[in-house]
Order: sequence, then C-alpha cells, then structure tokens
Amino acid sequence: MANRIPLIAGNWKMNKTNSEAVELVKRLKVLVKSIKANDCEIVVCPPFTALSDVAKELKGTNIYLGAQNLHFEDSGAFTGEVSAQMLKEIGCKYVIIGHSERRQLFGETNAAVNKKIFAALKQGLKPIVCVGETLSERERDKTKDVIKKQITESLANVDVNKIVLAYEPIWAIGTGKTATPEQAQEVHAFIRSLIKSESTRILYGGSVKPDNIKELMKQKDIDGTLVGGASLDAESFAKIVKY
Ligand code: PEP
Repeated sequence: MANRIPLIAGNWKMNKTNSEAVELVKRLKVLVKSIKANDCEIVVCPPFTALSDVAKELKGTNIYLGAQNLHFEDSGAFTGEVSAQMLKEIGCKYVIIGHSERRQLFGETNAAVNKKIFAALKQGLKPIVCVGETLSERERDKTKDVIKKQITESLANVDVNKIVLAYEPIWAIGTGKTATPEQAQEVHAFIRSLIKSESTRILYGGSVKPDNIKELMKQKDIDGTLVGGASLDAESFAKIVKY
C-alpha cells in the first residue's frame, strides 16, 4: 500500500473579498493548527485578488496556498490572465487546473489543460487536475469513456507523479448530491489503473461535507477531497480536515 498523505483542498471559487478571505484564514489556521503535515496537507485556493494577503496570513502555518487557474503562457498580451510565475512568486504551492466550471463555462479543453499543467510544473507549482462526467454521461453509462478521454488527453506526456488528480462528478458539484463512497471508489480505481501510479493522489470532489467525509476517506483510492461550498466556512472546513 503506497503511503499517500491525504490532501484536503478548499476551492473558494468567486467568493470572498480580500478582507473576508483574510478573516477566514485567520479563523481557520487556529482551528487546524494541531494537524501535522504528515497526517494531512491542507490547501486553500482563494480568488486571485486575495492570494497575496492570504499568503502573508499563512506564513509559518500548516496551510498551503493554491490558485484556481492560470494561463499557460509565461507573460504577454493576455488581458485578464495570470501566469504560473506570478502565482509562484506570491507563494502558491498548488494550482487547480481544468475545474469543470472552467471547462463548461469558459470552454477549457483537454489540450488547454495539458498546456497549463506544463506551465505550472515549469514553475514548480503542483497542479490539481480535475476530471469528471456530467449527469447525462453517467446515465448513458459513459462515465469511464469520458474519464479515459479526459485523462489521456489532459495528461499527455505528463509525469503523473508530479500532479494531484481530482475526480469531481459534475452532477455532485454544489448540488448536495454526493457520489456514494462506492461510486467514487469505482472511478478512483479506474483512474489509478489508467495512470498506473500508486503514489499519485486522487481527490474526490462534489458536495463534501463534515458528515460525509469519513466514509469517503475510508475508500482505498480516495486520498483526500476538493471542497467547494463547505470550505467557505472555517468551522466546517476544519471539521472536514479533521475527519
Ligand atoms: C468544487 O467545485 O470543486 C466542489 C467540489 O464544490 P462543492 O463542494 O460545493 O460541491
């Protein structure tokens, strides 16, 4: 059994002004200070506008900083975009890439996700790469086909030992409907068979809450979670971290 340190990451999406973000981490860092880095890695991913001040607040704590997206070019005429180098310098360790909202609402393709992974790795950032099927794909029994295509194309030529994966069934994101631990484990095991790595961490995401985290984390191939809504409240995120 590979020794994979659990990772719990909070994706704040487009929530929290800078001052609200700082308030949230001030509370969170007190609540989770007893957690050892070897027991669980804790990551928060605030919006870009709050990264700098949150980074200052997190100095010397056991909470790592992550971003929610990046552009694959190093610099240049890309209005509104942010590069890996900018994220690195500000103190990010992780960056979420290919979240389903980016794919669905902003047209992000597997090819773009692949370029973003290489841009992140070049700067020493750890990508958290998201994959997942829609409800209609699941109902048509296409889950494994969709996941296989996303994994194959997004991770082309990528060293899977340098990234974290997140399986996020789209029908479970922000809907209150969690995949059952067995449904999630089945897809996680499938992903592990595709990437052929025992050391790569595979997170589950989709309506993770303090009351369902324990059962999910009992599954053999679930190595942590990507948490949306429940990460916006320090108490509930701390409960998830301390599952
Ligand atoms: C997410 O968007 O990554 C997510 C898992 O959201 P939620 O926990 O709110 O379902």
